[in-house]
Amino acid sequence: MTQFKLTIPVVLIIFNRPDTTAKVFEVIRQVKPPQLFVIADAPRLDKSGEVERCIAARKIIDRVDWQCEVLTNYSEINLGCRERVYSGLNWVFSLVESAIILEDDCVPHLTFFRFCQELLERYRDNNQVMAISGDNFQFGNNTTEHSYYFSRYPHCWGWATWRRAWKNYDNQMQLWSKLRGSKWLENILQNSRAVKYWSQIFQNNYQGFNSWAYAWLFAGWVLDKLTIIPQINLVSNIGFSPTATHAKDVNSKFANMSVEEMIFPLTHPPSIIRNIPADDFTEKTMFSGSLQIPNVHCKVCGSISHKFDNAKVLNKYNVDYFQCSNCGFVQTENPHWLGEAYRSAIASSDVGLVSRNQIFSLITENLILNFFNADGKFLDYGCGYGLFVRMMRDLGLDFYGYDKYCQNIFYQGWEGDIDREDKYEIITAFEVFEHFINPLAEIEKILQKTRNILFSTQLLPPNNPRPNDWWYYALEEGQHISIFTKKALSVIAQKFKLNLCSDGESLHLLTEKNLSNSEFKSIFRVPRYQPQKRKETLTLLDYKKVIEKKQKNQQQLDLKILIDGVFFQINNTGIARVWKSLLEVWSKDSFGENILVLDRAKTAPKIPGIKYRTVPVYNEAKIDADRQMLQKICDEENADIFISTYYTTPILTPSIFMGYDMIPEILAKNLDKTSWQEKHRS
Ligand SMILES: [Zn+2]
Repeated sequence: MTQFKLTIPVVLIIFNRPDTTAKVFEVIRQVKPPQLFVIADAPRLDKSGEVERCIAARKIIDRVDWQCEVLTNYSEINLGCRERVYSGLNWVFSLVESAIILEDDCVPHLTFFRFCQELLERYRDNNQVMAISGDNFQFGNNTTEHSYYFSRYPHCWGWATWRRAWKNYDNQMQLWSKLRGSKWLENILQNSRAVKYWSQIFQNNYQGFNSWAYAWLFAGWVLDKLTIIPQINLVSNIGFSPTATHAKDVNSKFANMSVEEMIFPLTHPPSIIRNIPADDFTEKTMFSGSLQIPNVHCKVCGSISHKFDNAKVLNKYNVDYFQCSNCGFVQTENPHWLGEAYRSAIASSDVGLVSRNQIFSLITENLILNFFNADGKFLDYGCGYGLFVRMMRDLGLDFYGYDKYCQNIFYQGWEGDIDREDKYEIITAFEVFEHFINPLAEIEKILQKTRNILFSTQLLPPNNPRPNDWWYYALEEGQHISIFTKKALSVIAQKFKLNLCSDGESLHLLTEKNLSNSEFKSIFRVPRYQPQKRKETLTLLDYKKVIEKKQKNQQQLDLKILIDGVFFQINNTGIARVWKSLLEVWSKDSFGENILVLDRAKTAPKIPGIKYRTVPVYNEAKIDADRQMLQKICDEENADIFISTYYTTPILTPSIFMGYDMIPEILAKNLDKTSWQEKHRS
């Protein structure tokens, strides 16, 4: 840098951001341009504080302390970005042949200036080249051995051009009205999606969208010109902010990109040929392909996660793995393969199932007897077949199981539920967290039922192994999609205001209790409880409960009850609501199994768990036919009892009379009316 002397004028376009302006100015100050052109727009009077901020931004120019001709072009009225840049650069190029242009939020590397100056000189008379950019948006892709490449995309966060090129800029984009109906864009882009995208952009801009940059790009495409793009990124845009004109997404991949040093002497490409792969990448990642490379955010702490590796899952899907830059948590891309991965809920490779439960049951018992209320209720979340639940009940602890994916083999009768009202002293979750698609949401849900979670999941080892190098990623099974670090667990503990205890490897406790890590670790080694503290086994009690239930079920199963849902057809008033809620209650207990609802022409509300049979519509004028029909169905269904939601009856099958409604006898209603007669009969 020491021999380099900047001879090219620098243009600084400023507006209302003194903070970013100051940063850009400090870099310009270091390269001491002989001329500094300053273009400023006027404040918008309806934006509070903008006058002051514009004044503060202009004031920064007073800091010029090297030999420099400062020329200013400050607008008296607000022109907007497109008009302001257009008229400002017209002014600049009316005075000089070439210039380096920076906006108030584009912070260049020092070597950016020499890069521009040398290439402005080299391609001064080459009409194929329209500009020199300081931006590289390839993110390490499409590298070549030269210092720069040629592109159709004139990125302009820090750039340079010549008067000869700028004169092609047409702020009105007049040619678009002629070109838009032609095959012009198709010939350039050869990609229908891109054609659609750019047609829309050009049309918007033609109609006045406030961007000079698209009009500049349009000018280049019309004349088939190329822009020089550095092999590395030389300019960082620090202006992404919700209040910015265009760059609003502060989490954009393009915000605050790092810059690198350009190495000199430059190595020049031998010919001016467009870099097609690089341009395709740009089109795909910045423009029509997707508006930008989407940022991946850590599902635990929200920081940016970087691509960490790609690995083959279920022996067929190439899956990206991302690692959090802050907490180290590893997550996969959107796990679209889970349906397939869970075809068998318990991975066949889980040969440690039994021994793990054996160990966990003793550790959990030890923990509970020493530090928790052993008389409380407990839930094993994601309990699989329920082996652990059974083992804990055998140890005298009132455990329940919950697993929405897996067959209940060992805990029938002790189904817990995360959606019911119950609270639990502790919820255990062994080998569950690594399956979470949205860890925070799922943990939060568990925490609504307890303030203590004992869980196992293998922490990412310190050497940060990649998916192919660590068994716990279990690529063949495809179910482990969230890999935690100690820091990630700490973030979770903090978020939910809990203490975290961990063995540092695989077993962890999130708890409201003030339990020290060494106390926690002590439960692994020796039983700390007195043998007499051990609870009495629940095996015998559970056996009795199961047998009682079985007997009760068998008694109930002997009855078959038909309910005529006729009222749902007649009227949707209070009686219908009472019956609907009765059915809802019965649908949840074993009584529901004894019921068959006769659905009058599909008018009955469908309650899951209740059986229905469609029957003909009820007709007041054909009561006898209706009674015969009901009897026929009672016979076919072997009904023991008939109940009507209103006053219908079969001929022989015993009916239960349920009376509601007003009493017509007292109210002196016309008792000859069919409905009252029906009531009387039933
Ligand atoms: Zn994180």
